[in-house]
Amino acid sequence: MEARIVLLGPPGSGKGTQAERMEDELGFVRLSTGDLLREAVRNQTELGKQAKEFMDQGLLVPNELVIGLMKEKIDRMDGGYILDGFPRTVQQAEVLESITSVDHAINLDVDDEELVSRLTKRRSCPDCNAVFHLLYKPPAAEGVCDRCGGELYQRSDDSEETVRNRLKVYRENTFPLIEFYGKRGVLRDIDGVGDIDEIFQAIKGLL
Ligand code: AMP
Repeated sequence: MEARIVLLGPPGSGKGTQAERMEDELGFVRLSTGDLLREAVRNQTELGKQAKEFMDQGLLVPNELVIGLMKEKIDRMDGGYILDGFPRTVQQAEVLESITSVDHAINLDVDDEELVSRLTKRRSCPDCNAVFHLLYKPPAAEGVCDRCGGELYQRSDDSEETVRNRLKVYRENTFPLIEFYGKRGVLRDIDGVGDIDEIFQAIKGLL
């Protein structure tokens, strides 16, 4: 599929899980800002060192660091792609608008208590970026990624305190994007609570 898609929901709303399905089954390329930043942190690049202190506190990494990173990746894309975790501020959305048009901004709607429960029980794969949940989507073998065999870990920003901070940051900085994309006629609201497969079918149905 050729569409350019932005995934808008709060942390824990299922952006990563759904992006993974869209990548595996619909042929999209997923660009996750968080994954790119975590890779930079692991590789101890200059960007990684600067980004880490913000990420550890659940704060947004400053626009000047994130925008350069994403602009370079987006410029190189052809075909359909999904932006997972970008834009997260109106300023980032304006920059994106100056580079390309967005066909669908998908907003996964999930309430805060559910988000906290999901994030604190989340496990992630550092190798292929697949995500699991200890209760709702456990890996077939404990601690091992179903997709690539990588060793699962708990992200340092998935502790309860940092999660609550991330939700506050979401409300203040990212929530206004719902109106931003609503005005442009590309906002698609999806109920993000329920069966992972049914949510995926709902997304597929609106593309
Ligand atoms: P995520 O994996 O999408 O939950 O992102 C993890 C962390 O990376 C966030 O809490 C931020 O610190 C940082 N981050 C990800 N995307 C952005 C963005 N678009 N702008 C600023 N910081 C970001």
